[in-house]
Amino acid sequence: MMLSGVSVKIKQPARECNDEECPYHGHLKVRGKIRIGRVVSLKAKRMAVVEVESFYYVKKYMRYERRRSKLHARVPACVDVSEGDRVAVGETRPLAKSVAHVVLGRVM
Ligand SMILES: [Zn+2]
Repeated sequence: MMLSGVSVKIKQPARECNDEECPYHGHLKVRGKIRIGRVVSLKAKRMAVVEVESFYYVKKYMRYERRRSKLHARVPACVDVSEGDRVAVGETRPLAKSVAHVVLGRVM
């Protein structure tokens, strides 16, 4: 099942899963922002640390500076990612104290 309203090209999950908190096969709703980042850690169970980049305009120098931040995203059972992958994450309801995103898949 394709997610509607997602404009980035994402590698679709190859298999079905019965993960309740999966945006493709479960009941997890993706709403808000879709961001692209890089997986920096996969140490936690079904959770990825994703580094995302943003640009902040510095008025004094009339230039943009690069800002980075890390966010925690749930990895559904049908999504395969490894460290270093460029992935798309979608915003969801809070799933844990620090998790309010879900990994949608690798960016093609
Ligand atoms: Zn799934």
